Amino acid sequence: MKIAIIGAGIGGLTAAALLSEQGHDVKVFEKNNEVTEVGAGIGIGGNVIDKLGNHDLAKGIKNIGQVIDIMEILDDKNNVLSKAKLKKSTINLTMTRQSLIDVIQSYVPESTIYTNHQVTHIDNGAMKVTVHFSEQAPEAFDLCIGADGLHSIIRQSVVPNSKSIYQGYTVFRGLVDDVDIKTDNIAKEYWSPKGRVGIVPLLNNQAYWFISINAKENDAKMRAYGKPHLQARFNHFPNEVRQVLDKQSETDILLHDIYDLQPLKSFVYQRVILLGDAAHATTPNMGQGAGQAMEDAIVLANCLQAYPFEAALQRYDKLRVQHTKKVIMRSRKIGKIAQKRNKLVVAGRNLLAKVIPNRLVAGQTKFLYKSKSK
Ligand SMILES: Cc1cc2nc3c(=O)[nH]c(=O)nc-3n(C[C@H](O)[C@H](O)[C@H](O)COP(=O)(O)OP(=O)(O)OC[C@H]3O[C@@H](n4cnc5c(N)ncnc54)[C@H](O)[C@@H]3O)c2cc1C
Repeated sequence: MKIAIIGAGIGGLTAAALLSEQGHDVKVFEKNNEVTEVGAGIGIGGNVIDKLGNHDLAKGIKNIGQVIDIMEILDDKNNVLSKAKLKKSTINLTMTRQSLIDVIQSYVPESTIYTNHQVTHIDNGAMKVTVHFSEQAPEAFDLCIGADGLHSIIRQSVVPNSKSIYQGYTVFRGLVDDVDIKTDNIAKEYWSPKGRVGIVPLLNNQAYWFISINAKENDAKMRAYGKPHLQARFNHFPNEVRQVLDKQSETDILLHDIYDLQPLKSFVYQRVILLGDAAHATTPNMGQGAGQAMEDAIVLANCLQAYPFEAALQRYDKLRVQHTKKVIMRSRKIGKIAQKRNKLVVAGRNLLAKVIPNRLVAGQTKFLYKSKSK
């Protein structure tokens, strides 16, 4: 089958790797002039490794991943509010985003990736789908996979009224070298009315950090924030936070407003399907955006192998739409709780976080491990 994949992000490349292996004639179209990742670090959950099964990609990800088996939430005075010990099958692997992209890309035949190919629109028909580009001649395919991210052109053409929703906070991110983190198996989040700070260990004494602050959409004040502003705002936080911010270079701090997508009713539209953020962009609170994009690709490849074409697409839709809706809604809810700013409300929330049994907190993510792969 001749398949166009729009977007060489984590989702598009995973789909390209698996579908090329199955013998499909795959072309990945990427608007940028190279395959790169904007971003610092990323966590890939055990749910993805599980779904990859015996595929070598699972080994590749394990090789570059720092094992995280404890997740802690603390307040700004270093008091632990909750601590979840992850079971072997639910551990998280953390890595730089570029190393994840590099590993996935190593399974994609080089000749299938077409950079500098910006898709402008598609003509979706019962027998073929035609992909149009800003500079190249249009080309017809049997299937077009829209893996073109949150602001997907492909989604806009099949679901023109889909809505991305700003969640009221913006996230700064960075990557630091030579950090002295004593417990490299623990990912920590510090919650305070001033914002939320996450410190995530990576291999080779690197760490990834994020700071999430309530703000207006495109907030000019936040855009003007640099390292000194972040240091001043969080200078009362525990040593570990201050040390990591000290190590951060002034220039490489990323900033993104946080959106998710109003859940769609379907990811399948005749010969066009949506995958990854294009289908179900979610807030980063569960660390599942990239993981779910990879799961989509795995499930799609499994379904295309196990069922006839139409049945495969219907099965993909059935397995992915409801599951990812749950991720969007749960992650949105966690964000609302974690981003509280009022001091009284924060005190009440922290007290509650301390008394809720850790197994109940861990139970919130159990469903991630129960979804089917074909
Ligand atoms: C602050 C933050 C922290 C996060 N942390 C985590 C985490 O720890 N774990 C996790 O699993 N997820 C995390 N995520 C989510 C994760 O980054 C995304 O879910 C994931 O990157 C989605 O992958 P994708 O391939 O669907 O889309 P993208 O990565 O957005 O890739 C889309 C690709 O399509 C290309 N493209 C777009 N339009 C066109 C066009 N018209 N023509 C051709 N090409 C096009 C783009 O250039 C891009 O390469 C985080 C997100 C944020 C914002």
